Amino acid sequence: MSRQTPFAAELAWPDYDRRVRGGATPILIPIGSMEQHGHHMPMHVDVLLPTEFARRVAEAVGALVAPPFTYGYKSHQKSGGGNHLPGTTSLDGATLVSALRDVIKEFARHGVRRICLVNGHFENSWFIVEGIDLALRELRWDGIDDMKIVVLSYWDFVDAATIARLYPNGFTGWDLEHGGVLETSLMMALHPELVEIERAIDHEPPSFPPYDVYPVKPEWTPPSGTLSSPREASPEKGEILLEVCTGGIVNALRAEFSVT
Ligand code: ZN
Ligand code: MN
Repeated sequence: MSRQTPFAAELAWPDYDRRVRGGATPILIPIGSMEQHGHHMPMHVDVLLPTEFARRVAEAVGALVAPPFTYGYKSHQKSGGGNHLPGTTSLDGATLVSALRDVIKEFARHGVRRICLVNGHFENSWFIVEGIDLALRELRWDGIDDMKIVVLSYWDFVDAATIARLYPNGFTGWDLEHGGVLETSLMMALHPELVEIERAIDHEPPSFPPYDVYPVKPEWTPPSGTLSSPREASPEKGEILLEVCTGGIVNALRAEFSVT
């Protein structure tokens, strides 16, 4: 009798083996970053949130959750404040691509044939795609051609009606949401002990020019490190986001993986 946990690494290997060998059990891999998230939240927001979405989705569809990627690609100034900021600790793109390719191929070796990458850090996006592409190519060389991989970022499941409910005064776009209403509300709902909302700094979103400069110009990033104000965040908004995004991801996996 194996323990009831959705977390793959909490299982003993014979129990894990029994679950995945035939290829029917999907594996969800959360991918985040260690990145500053303003004065009011810890630096592992981008890990904690996709891990919790993965856990909820895994419970719903009978999948397993792999240990998360806790470091990600370098923070971009216009979507994460920038990689020059204290605490933000990032991988080179090639490192992330290689690590992800390795892990996908290891799960394939165990028998896994359905993988979902649950992204929590915008800058990872294309490196995830590259890691998948290299893994699938090498698996084909090994004669494995029945692997299917879904890649998603949880915020893409927030529909227009939900955006209107969450941002009654206007929505600035997901790129400027760094440390703002979305992430802060989810953290307030899930990990209130890790949020110090009284330390949040209220500010207008920065207006970046339509180009980038390297080395970055630190003065472009608001001193708080956030890109929009978390002032309107609330645990109630977090619960709405949890429901909408979890439901959307569950539907996606039911459609793509024929799970129930
Ligand atoms: Zn974040
Ligand atoms: Mn991020």
